[in-house]
Amino acid sequence: MAKRISSRLVKKDRLYTYDEAGDLLGITGHTVRAWRSKGLDVMTASKPHFILGAALIAYIESKQIKRSSKGALDEMFCFKCKAHRKPLGAMVDYIPITEVRGNLMGICGHCEGPLHRFTSKAGLGKLSAIYEIAIKGAS
Ligand SMILES: [Zn+2]
Repeated sequence: MAKRISSRLVKKDRLYTYDEAGDLLGITGHTVRAWRSKGLDVMTASKPHFILGAALIAYIESKQIKRSSKGALDEMFCFKCKAHRKPLGAMVDYIPITEVRGNLMGICGHCEGPLHRFTSKAGLGKLSAIYEIAIKGAS
């Protein structure tokens, strides 16, 4: 996907077939069909299959967030957003896994879901310039 696809024309409450969605977005229906295997929510109980506009918008936006964010140093992965997000209040916990590696855990500034990032203990120095890091006791 080279060009940026806009969800602007998609109506949240409308149902679209693959071809209708493709026409609207300026791509082929085949591409839209392929999105199904990549996580697009399709209503497959009926024939033809329908895609709710809201699902289409959510899919397109999640793609764009992924592409525009390579996971900067001050961002961590949110399992709920499925995207890299900044932690709420820039506050994170460091939970050691081994002597040299651990988990950074925070709260998503976007959805308040759990954020996660692996880091080395040596990398904490750099991260502490960005985050308020509470180091949890090793068990
Ligand atoms: Zn989130």
